[in-house]
Amino acid sequence: MPAKGVLVAETADVVIAGGGVIGTAIAWRAAAAGLDVVLVDPDHGDAASLVAAGMLAPVSEALFGEGALLRINLLAVRRFPSFAAELEDVTGRHVGLRREGTLAVAYDPGDYAALMRLTAFRRSAGLDAEERDSRACRQLESFLTPDVHGGVLFAGDWSVDNRRYAAALREAMAAAKVRIVRDRVTGALVRDGRARGVRLADGGSIDSAVVVIAAGCWSGAVAGLPGTVRAAVRPVKGQLLRLRHPEGMAPVITHTIRATVRGTDIYLVPRADGEMIVGATQEERGPDRTVTAGAVHDLLHDAMSVLPVTSELILAETCAGLRPGTPDNGPIVGGFGVDGLLLATGHYRNGILMSPVTADAIVAGLTGQRPAAEWGPFSPRRFIAGPADGD
Ligand SMILES: Cc1cc2nc3c(=O)[nH]c(=O)nc-3n(C[C@H](O)[C@H](O)[C@H](O)COP(=O)(O)OP(=O)(O)OC[C@H]3O[C@@H](n4cnc5c(N)ncnc54)[C@H](O)[C@@H]3O)c2cc1C
Repeated sequence: MPAKGVLVAETADVVIAGGGVIGTAIAWRAAAAGLDVVLVDPDHGDAASLVAAGMLAPVSEALFGEGALLRINLLAVRRFPSFAAELEDVTGRHVGLRREGTLAVAYDPGDYAALMRLTAFRRSAGLDAEERDSRACRQLESFLTPDVHGGVLFAGDWSVDNRRYAAALREAMAAAKVRIVRDRVTGALVRDGRARGVRLADGGSIDSAVVVIAAGCWSGAVAGLPGTVRAAVRPVKGQLLRLRHPEGMAPVITHTIRATVRGTDIYLVPRADGEMIVGATQEERGPDRTVTAGAVHDLLHDAMSVLPVTSELILAETCAGLRPGTPDNGPIVGGFGVDGLLLATGHYRNGILMSPVTADAIVAGLTGQRPAAEWGPFSPRRFIAGPADGD
């Protein structure tokens, strides 16, 4: 990998800006399809992909008014196992896919009424939802407090260990001969209505006929995109905790638990290696990635309210990441009228889930095939109001 500060003058079929799960999934699949790929990222350690909880949760993420998002999330969850199996095959690494489902629990009667309204909506969309009373919830998860009012099992939700998954993607991409440049893309180079490559922060450039901007919440900082598209991506801060079981203690949960505690939502996600994730805040604070005492307190307080045994686990890590949010909560994937200039960003709360289908959609476009029809509503064109900014 060239060190930062080294001028790079390369050529490639495809340049990808961004090495989170979206950029690396695209890079791996594009290289596997026979394309010569360069991926540029200054430091993937900043990626939201490494902070995420790893839920693959089309059902418990289904909210009123987000029908198109539900359809793409359902496509994504169906695709995930075959994509993960191929990744495990290529790398010999386990990515920690779990299929136990999500148990959504409500702490008090008000929380339960809200859960029931959402459950009716999810059923009306054809999704599986099994209601459980408080006792039946505890038969599934014995450490839940008896105070839990009731719950619903959403069997269609899964999870993956996103850090293992991201590491496997990086390994698969390297094995597929993707070249990695440690730098920042400052702009897409566009001439005569065509992408020509990218400009780098160190002053170098890379020539290519295809440029994919997959820089997560930072995608709007890349020059050469229409101003309205750049403005459409914003960071949405999420703080999250990683807890570990003390030596010899059996895992305290087996399902992902989503709990509403007096109107506040939290989730607890079990990992095969004995971690339990507790998340997450959702904050409009621009690029701030600090971890606050208040967030740690609130997450632990709500987790202990529904699962008191949480207090016995080890607080292994606190972290904060930036989800790439958009005005309609949907991803921004595809082209917008400049030949060869593509976007793959704005995946907000579901970027881990959507990474395989995003790679499929972009690689379909690069190899002359049609992306799945579910992508129709998520074109960048929905945000375009004027001509592209100068690059
Ligand atoms: C607390 C939290 C919990 C979450 N939980 C889940 C979950 O359970 N399930 C789920 O599916 N999703 C979840 N998400 C969302 C998910 O993490 C994101 O949607 C996803 O990681 C976005 O991936 P990405 O590759 O687009 O962006 P990122 O992972 O943020 O990666 C972007 C990369 O681009 C690089 N970059 C930035 N600027 C440039 C540039 N100019 N040039 C080149 N590279 C650049 C960065 O260094 C970074 O490596 C969660 C997010 C958070 C914060």
